[in-house]
Order: sequence, then C-alpha cells, then structure tokens
Amino acid sequence: MSNLEDLYREIILDHYRSPRNRGELASPPAIRVEGFNPLCGDELVVYLNVEDGTLSDIKITGHGCSISQSSSSLMSAAVKGKSLEQVREIIGTFKQLMTVHESTLAHDGEPAKVDLRAIGELAALQGVVKFPVRIKCATLAWNTLSQGLDQLD
Ligand code: ZN
Repeated sequence: MSNLEDLYREIILDHYRSPRNRGELASPPAIRVEGFNPLCGDELVVYLNVEDGTLSDIKITGHGCSISQSSSSLMSAAVKGKSLEQVREIIGTFKQLMTVHESTLAHDGEPAKVDLRAIGELAALQGVVKFPVRIKCATLAWNTLSQGLDQLD
C-alpha cells in the first residue's frame, strides 16, 4: 500500500511542478470561469473551448496549494478532447471519489463505488478524502469546470 501512496504522491507533485494545459484562451469565444476557495486561498481561472459537443481545448491559470493546482492539472488532462457527455461523466466520477472513504473502496466482497483503475491518474487524489479540509482544494477546479459547462445551457 505504501508503494501505491508513493506513486500517488509522485503524480500529485509532478502535476504541481509541471502543470498541464497552463495558460489562457481568448475569451470570447472561450468560456472563462473563475473559482475561489476561501478556506485555503486557492484561485483558478478556467478557459474552455467547446466545438461540436466536444471540449476541444482547456487552459487554466491560478495559484494556490499543491492539491488545488495539481488537481486542476489532472482535471485538464482528463477532460481535454472529450465529448461533453464524457466530461460530465468524469466530473461525476471524481465528485464520487471525493465522497467515498478509502475503507469503502477496500471493503471485501462489495463492488467499489468508484473503479480506481478506470480513472487513471485521477486516482492519485483519492487520498485527499482522509483530510476533509483539503477536499475543497481538490474539488475547486472541478466545480469551476461544472460552472463553465452550465454556461453552455
Ligand atoms: Zn488549497
């Protein structure tokens, strides 16, 4: 288990040090959404380009703690190029991940509510659930993305 935790820590640090999809998109046409987590001081601006029902591009700027910044990077890598339907599915899965305690995932004989193998590197953020005060850091980017998608309706 400690090897897995090391791997997860490495993934989070890697995305913090070398954030993916960093920058801005011209807005408009891109959707621009701001996110703020007052509990920790994390700030994000998420830019979304949507073409033909696909999230064709995503860029993120901002600053804050390692969890908020690496979560935004992991999110951008997970949703870029996906259909809006897939994006909403990934958001739902991630939010579930943030509400499911580790013990539930590991429970014998019961199917896990979230299949960690199916979500790739996002699984690295699963350990955040153990620190409730950090959950808002991890979900900030995802809530901001959701707000951006809501502007499409
Ligand atoms: Zn934070």
